[in-house]
Amino acid sequence: MKIESVAVVGAGTMGNGIAHVCALAGLQVILVDADPDALKGALARIGGNMSRQVAKGRLDAAGRERALARIQGDGSLAGAAAADLVIEAVPEVAELKGRIFRELDALAPAHAILASNTSSISITGIAARTERPERVIGMHFMNPVPVMRLVEIVRGLRTSSATVAAVVGLARALGKTPVEARDFPGFVSNRILMPMINEAVFALMEGVADAESIDAVMTLGMNHPMGPLALADLIGLDTCLNILEVLHREIGDDRYRPCPLLRQHVAAGWLGRKTGRGFHSYRPRTG
Ligand code: NAD
Repeated sequence: MKIESVAVVGAGTMGNGIAHVCALAGLQVILVDADPDALKGALARIGGNMSRQVAKGRLDAAGRERALARIQGDGSLAGAAAADLVIEAVPEVAELKGRIFRELDALAPAHAILASNTSSISITGIAARTERPERVIGMHFMNPVPVMRLVEIVRGLRTSSATVAAVVGLARALGKTPVEARDFPGFVSNRILMPMINEAVFALMEGVADAESIDAVMTLGMNHPMGPLALADLIGLDTCLNILEVLHREIGDDRYRPCPLLRQHVAAGWLGRKTGRGFHSYRPRTG
């Protein structure tokens, strides 16, 4: 199946990046968000990020204009009705995703594939909310999407091989490297990453070292490109907490229990880069 048009549902941290790479690859993109300010901000961010690519010589100005012209914003899910592929990127809350998939199933054409960018929630469970479980799949992009090469492709219990092949082909067409994972909580990426981030927050809470020192140990000592607390701020602390809750509940092992300090930051609204403060502080975002 050839995918020519994509609807991206949720225009936050991930959705704007997914729309960006799809438009650059020549696909028609409908970007949907329930919050008009989020949608406006996302369209401005995509323009700004493409301008940066032009400044670095990775894209020419006409290519930027053509790609931006392929993206259309929409405030309602009905905007997704014409797409060959829908990629959902709303917050990591199982109930919300289930509801959206049920609605998308009713709206999208019969041939359309419904993908979720979920970090940890069961694809099999999401698929069971639809009448087309063989055409539901996980397409887990990494943040920031225009930069990171991996897409973790998650096959639910009832996902068909034709759906896997179509989505693997699309990931390659976007210039990404698809890697298949089975549908267990957190797949490969977050099952390994989140316990490390959580442990870094415990170390901070217990006063083992301050945030800068914890991150410096992991960048300078372990050669990680970014410290775990800075990475948590980039991902969003609410997203990290939601993923840990899923791992803890679904695997049932206390080693995944979210650190109380992480809960406290989320309760305070210190969600990381997107709010200007997490474990570190950031200048407000511009465009
Ligand atoms: P986010 O909070 O930045 O953005 C979510 C967007 O969804 C918001 O703009 C919100 O307005 C919109 N939204 C909420 N309810 C909606 C609805 N009913 N209809 C349409 N739009 C709605 O979240 P994010 O960090 O982009 O995460 C999105 C998904 O991607 C989550 O499943 C997350 O686990 C996953 N993910 C996140 C990262 C990361 O680093 N942040 C990495 C990989 C995967």
